[in-house]
Amino acid sequence: MHKLTKPDHVWKKELTPEQYHVLREKGTEEAFSGKLWNHKEKGKYYCAACQSELFTSGEKFDSGCGWPSFTQPEHKEAIEEHMDTSHGMVRTEVTCAKCGGHLGHVFNDGPKPHGLRFCINSASLHFKK
Ligand code: FE
Repeated sequence: MHKLTKPDHVWKKELTPEQYHVLREKGTEEAFSGKLWNHKEKGKYYCAACQSELFTSGEKFDSGCGWPSFTQPEHKEAIEEHMDTSHGMVRTEVTCAKCGGHLGHVFNDGPKPHGLRFCINSASLHFKK
């Protein structure tokens, strides 16, 4: 995939402070605080920074964790996974393959058949019907 890189000051101008914190500084919004954790409309979820297509409503499920949760990305190539050992935990970080923006983490406690829960910050997503 073609990589999109922009200097920090440009991201800072283009993103809201919360989006910048989550996407560029690997922040996490508070559980149940985001605009999309309980969002149920049919449509697609895009990267809030670069508009790359990431997830669809068909893969979204009620995980009860307080963040938008998906069983899989729309296309595997749209995301990248990285080992994250911050905060005294070993987790798998999920980033946007195009712009490198932090999206959230993927856990192994999702529903069958994939068994995955992509736990994604609302701040990293842009929804379109
Ligand atoms: Fe992106």
